[in-house]
Amino acid sequence: MTQLPPYLFAELERKIEQKRAAGVDVISLGIGDPDLPTPAAVVEEGQRQLARPDTHQYPSNRGRPAFRQAVADFYRRRFGVEVDPDTEVLPLLGGKEGVAHICWAMLDPGDVCLAADPGYPVYTSGSLLCGAEPVLMPLTAAHGFQPNLDAITAPQRDRANLLFCNYPNNPTGAVIDDDFFERLARFGLEHEIPIVHDNAYSEITFDGYVAPSFLQAPGAKEAGIEMFSLSKAYNMTGWRTGAAVGNAAMIEALWKLKTNIDSGMFEAVQMASVRALAEGSGVAREMCEVYRRRRDLAVAALRAVGIDVDPPRGTMYIWVPVPEGHSSVSFTELVLEQAGVVVSPGSSYGPNGEGYVRISLTLSDERLREAMQRIEQHLRVAA
Ligand SMILES: *Cc1c(COP(=O)(O)O)cnc(C)c1O
Repeated sequence: MTQLPPYLFAELERKIEQKRAAGVDVISLGIGDPDLPTPAAVVEEGQRQLARPDTHQYPSNRGRPAFRQAVADFYRRRFGVEVDPDTEVLPLLGGKEGVAHICWAMLDPGDVCLAADPGYPVYTSGSLLCGAEPVLMPLTAAHGFQPNLDAITAPQRDRANLLFCNYPNNPTGAVIDDDFFERLARFGLEHEIPIVHDNAYSEITFDGYVAPSFLQAPGAKEAGIEMFSLSKAYNMTGWRTGAAVGNAAMIEALWKLKTNIDSGMFEAVQMASVRALAEGSGVAREMCEVYRRRRDLAVAALRAVGIDVDPPRGTMYIWVPVPEGHSSVSFTELVLEQAGVVVSPGSSYGPNGEGYVRISLTLSDERLREAMQRIEQHLRVAA
């Protein structure tokens, strides 16, 4: 526990509380939790299933066949990827659970875990919790926010027994070059490093960009797995539903571990997930249109105060470089102080997040517009 990094938001949260206590209507652009509701058809299926006594008992850790089949059908339809629903699909209580537990399934104390930086904090905390050593792979603007696999040294490669990355990327909003997953799979196979692609955002894309699955890459199923989450794709963050998909040996190890930790996913939630996965892309497309509108609004406002950002082609985040002379934290404090708006300091996602803040588009257009207007009116960025 002592190795886990301190909670970076503690000081910021204290300042937010002070502001609120002083009567300021603080608007938070800090949290990546969709504001839109779960699609009605999915909620109705959940209600129907909740009323059925046959969903009320302990689920199997393998998941219902209907759930695994729905994931396999989704992967075929959406990505053109064939997976065996019996051996290559496992329900997860959200992608986060899968990311944390795959560390326990794969890593021995002293192993290296290669983790994208900036990245989802669980890549490093998950590996620290099982005595492994996270080694950060910097994601920089100069390299398209993709890890430079050639920069990973031979001693690091030799000790590595897991690699985490995620595209479309949280927090940078970056999407990948067409050949990245292919190179990643080859890298994993060549150096015998199991790959975990954390796929939380493949359905949240804009401007005609269609995000691939890692499993589309040649050799990917030999190289690793993908953690697919329904949270962001179907506005289901509270339901805790996702699936590990791909390499059968890794799935088996994760399953074996999980039989000792949890007792599976509530079957009513599994059946609601089946409904969501069968929805087709219509729901996601509508949602993406909402995020795109908000993205354009935020990008325009940032440009108006002299901060030039590229509109992201995926995720509901904008990765904003902080003005000269500021750190992530000092700029976050400035925005809170002057505009009463909360953003996330990039440094909370890892050392290479320093120099950025993350803006999340998960609040109503009206509130977002208000936040951006305040930034335009009040933010005095020292040039
Ligand atoms: C949201 C998110 C997840 C997982 O979310 P769950 O709700 O646990 O499925 C995983 N990775 C990244 C990068 C995310 O942003």
